[in-house]
Amino acid sequence: MDDLSEMLNRLKLITLRDRIENLLTEASNKEMTLREALTFFCKQEIESKDDRRIEMGIRMARFPWSRSLEQFEYEAQPSIDPRQMRELSTCRWIANGDALLLLGPPGVGKTHLAVALGREAIKEGYTTLFTTAARLLTDLSSAHQENRLEGRLRHYAKPKLLIIDELGYLPFEPQAAHLFFQLVSQRYERGSCLITSNRSVGEWGEVFGDPVVATAILDRLLHHSHVVTIKGESYRLREKRRSGLLSPSCQTKET
Ligand code: ADP
Ligand code: MG
Repeated sequence: MDDLSEMLNRLKLITLRDRIENLLTEASNKEMTLREALTFFCKQEIESKDDRRIEMGIRMARFPWSRSLEQFEYEAQPSIDPRQMRELSTCRWIANGDALLLLGPPGVGKTHLAVALGREAIKEGYTTLFTTAARLLTDLSSAHQENRLEGRLRHYAKPKLLIIDELGYLPFEPQAAHLFFQLVSQRYERGSCLITSNRSVGEWGEVFGDPVVATAILDRLLHHSHVVTIKGESYRLREKRRSGLLSPSCQTKET
């Protein structure tokens, strides 16, 4: 390694270290001033550091699959206001520590939006963790039984955004509501929760199986919150129906 590479290496400017010859050639071909060249080099390093950070954040978030807001078709889901989604995608709600509830029947895009907003959060530099209500509660229950609840609560309290998918698909076991309450309390006013559910907030008492604990949980969650209620039909069914309409038999009928 020559002196320059060695120094770039020490400064951990890895992209510059690896690409310096090409970048110098490009700067010279474009007849950049010294200032322009330095700006250009910094930009390259920052962009690749950002890319690596986002990639790592996405890996650590443990999303079930990858989805973006650009992939969401608003025409297919008229009950969602694109302006509200754009506002949510700025992540101001996370900066404020607010909660976000995405409610609606199966297949309307709740998990899609949760993952997409999680990506935006990571891009903005917020640590994010995705889990399902079932997985979260199984984990907290076994930690509780094995006397290591504190550690697990700390784990789930750490990320700035915790996404809890599919609350209400399964009713809570006894004890679970209490564990969930402890988690929500630990995170309260420290980090944001994004929760998706197929049940309306009014039905959460039933889901938690304990109206008193449910009230305490909702009290904290709804204090500073945004609620998006999605109506309408499942995207998957819609796609199926569409392909049905386009089937050869239908076309024959129309002509
Ligand atoms: P939910 O979590 O509400 O049950 P999902 O988010 O899992 O629904 O959506 C089911 C599938 O349909 C996913 O693959 C998702 O990407 C897709 N999908 C749902 N709504 C839309 C939409 N409006 N635009 C594009 N894809 C959508
Ligand atoms: Mg889902």
